[in-house]
Amino acid sequence: MLDNKERKRVRDIYSKKKSAEKRSAEKNNRKDEDFLREFPDAESFVNWWEQQYDKQGGKCHYCDTSIDLIARLIKAGQIGTRKVRKDGERGRCLELERKDPFGPYDRKNCVLACMYCNNDKSNTYGYKDYKEFFGPNRKKHFEWLENKLGAP
Ligand SMILES: [Zn+2]
Repeated sequence: MLDNKERKRVRDIYSKKKSAEKRSAEKNNRKDEDFLREFPDAESFVNWWEQQYDKQGGKCHYCDTSIDLIARLIKAGQIGTRKVRKDGERGRCLELERKDPFGPYDRKNCVLACMYCNNDKSNTYGYKDYKEFFGPNRKKHFEWLENKLGAP
C-alpha cells in the first residue's frame, strides 16, 4: 500500500512523464507515445505502481532491498543521497526503471528500483547482467551496513 504522500509523488512522476511524452510526440509527429498508451491517466499509473510495489514487496527489483531499510541507512548517514536540480534529492524512494532503457515505458518493461541501482545501471549495463551480478552485491553491501546500525 502507498500512503498519500507517496501517491502524490507518483502522480507527480506521471505528470512529468506525460508532459515529456507529449512534447516528444509532437516533435516526432506521432499521436501518442508508448507511456500514454499504457497509462492514459494518472490513476492507471498510480494503480500500476501500487501493484508493482506490492509485487516487489516494497523492495528494489535489482538489489532486493526494502526502500525502508535504504531510508534508514540514509538517515543514519551510512549512504548519501543524490541532489537533483529541480526535484531536490534522490535516494529515499523507489524509482521508475526501464529494464531495457531503449524500450518503451510499458508494463512489461517497467519495474521499481532504488536510486542506487537505477543510477548505476543507467543505460550502460544489460538487464540480465545487472540483475545477476550487481544487484546481489549491492544487497550484500546494504546488509553489511544494516548490521552496523544495530537494532532499528
Ligand atoms: Zn537497488
